[in-house]
Amino acid sequence: MMKCIVIGAGPGGIVATKELLEKGISEVVCLEQAPGLGGVFSRSYDNLVLTSSVTFSMFSDFWVGEGKNHHFWTKEEAVAYWSSYAEHYSVNDHIRFGCKVESVSQGEDEVWEVRLADGESLSCTHLVVAIGNNNVPRFPSWKEEVTEIPCYHSREYTNAAPFKGKNVLMVGGGESGSDVAYEISQVANKSWVSLRETTGWIVPRKRGDHAADVSTHRGIWDLPREYGRKLSPFVLKLERGRKDPVFDALADLNEKVKSRNGIWGIFGTKTLALPKAIAHHGCKVVGAVTRVKEGGKTLETADGVVLEDLDAIVFSTGYLNRAEFMPEGLKACDPRSMYKHIFHPDYGDKLAWIGWARPGFGSQFPIMEMQARYCALLFNGDMKLPEKEEMIRVAKEDEAMYLEQFEENAARIRSLVDYHRYMNGMARIIGCYPPLRSYFFTHPKIWLHLMYGPTQATQFRLRGPGKKVKLAHEIIEKLPISTYNHIVKAGLRGRIYFGLRSLVPPFLRPAS
Ligand SMILES: Cc1cc2nc3c(=O)[nH]c(=O)nc-3n(C[C@H](O)[C@H](O)[C@H](O)COP(=O)(O)OP(=O)(O)OC[C@H]3O[C@@H](n4cnc5c(N)ncnc54)[C@H](O)[C@@H]3O)c2cc1C
Repeated sequence: MMKCIVIGAGPGGIVATKELLEKGISEVVCLEQAPGLGGVFSRSYDNLVLTSSVTFSMFSDFWVGEGKNHHFWTKEEAVAYWSSYAEHYSVNDHIRFGCKVESVSQGEDEVWEVRLADGESLSCTHLVVAIGNNNVPRFPSWKEEVTEIPCYHSREYTNAAPFKGKNVLMVGGGESGSDVAYEISQVANKSWVSLRETTGWIVPRKRGDHAADVSTHRGIWDLPREYGRKLSPFVLKLERGRKDPVFDALADLNEKVKSRNGIWGIFGTKTLALPKAIAHHGCKVVGAVTRVKEGGKTLETADGVVLEDLDAIVFSTGYLNRAEFMPEGLKACDPRSMYKHIFHPDYGDKLAWIGWARPGFGSQFPIMEMQARYCALLFNGDMKLPEKEEMIRVAKEDEAMYLEQFEENAARIRSLVDYHRYMNGMARIIGCYPPLRSYFFTHPKIWLHLMYGPTQATQFRLRGPGKKVKLAHEIIEKLPISTYNHIVKAGLRGRIYFGLRSLVPPFLRPAS
């Protein structure tokens, strides 16, 4: 019997296997149905470029190479990085490709039995599910009425060639949806994007030569989330001031964001693809579809637009959190009911989900690494999970916190978390929160990176279990740091604002 089986060799499964090995758990096998590693990025659309910069996407302890700080990987480059990582940390020896997990069950002795499509059966004490949440497409209910024209999901989209000269409606404007809209609008006869309200808060990948996510730093993100209300109008004014049709389109879309906490009450859409489709390629934004006629050839939308002579619809409407091979009761797990989006309270540390915490801004890869580090510490006995009741209490408390911050977005997107809150919270549990205070005096240069460089994974290797201080120093010093830009200034203003506010008795404070 194995100690641990990891299902999936996307970035989540790879980092989980590596962390387990590093913590001395050598009886681990990673099962992957595909012939190679890389998960989503080994099968997504042709022109996929990541929306998190290399700095943010890298794992903490594997350098990306010189001169790449502000670069955004293509999907091939991302897969190449994870392949080198897997080779460097001897993960490859533990992956079995072409192994589709068909079903999983747990016996009374708490041992997991994992059955593969070819009939083989494996057993383990600890199971890690790292299958991503991009497996089961989600569609709006009206899709059922579309019978006369073809429908696609972004999951099966590869490039715009089939849509040349066609009238195409695209539904949804997240990051994949925006890329799809950008490509199709360039070749279609007519194109529209249907949005329920708007897309997430759009930010460009780059500002000048700098990756924009370098500004996802503690200098601003350590402020209370209500500061998003003040930040949003300020950022909007800046984008409008550019007098650029692409940024005007971006501002039009961002102005429609209704969340109370503005930019910090919604997820980021870190690409200009949709604004470009609108500004340069005639793509029109319409409201949610309210009526389907002629089997989908004609559609009416909430804002009174009638779309006629449609040839195809592409849905970029996300995915369901489902794992069909799991036992009943675990097939449709709600990430918000799990302790830190990882552990189902009924199963304790015998079952872990890696990759079901999706950050509004930042990147999912450092989150998956942090989750993997925690699992490894639990599985090898260095740490213990809280009791079941406490896990339930914490999950409820976290859910309430995210509902307060993201409102309806948190209710709808059950995996949505705030990157900084999640990472800092996990770091405190593990004991690897960066030593900000002492570094201010002992390593001021690194402290500046910790505060005004992106809050990426290497920051969490400076102390506690899994620390790699020398390597972390070397890497952090090579990482970018923000220029003295509008975000840094807004952060400093925010600190003064909240500092002064705290001096005023609560009943005299103005509402923010
Ligand atoms: C188009 C797209 C672009 C994204 N870009 C970014 C980005 O720029 N930055 C960022 O931080 N995040 C991004 N994300 C979000 C997230 O980082 C990715 O979804 C990431 O791939 C998640 O990694 P994962 O390992 O959890 O899942 P996946 O990459 O989905 O990997 C899961 C693996 O499990 C395998 N598997 C599934 N079922 C079985 C089974 N029954 N048996 C065996 N194997 C199985 C799959 O074959 C797959 O290889 C993006 C997501 C998408 C969809």
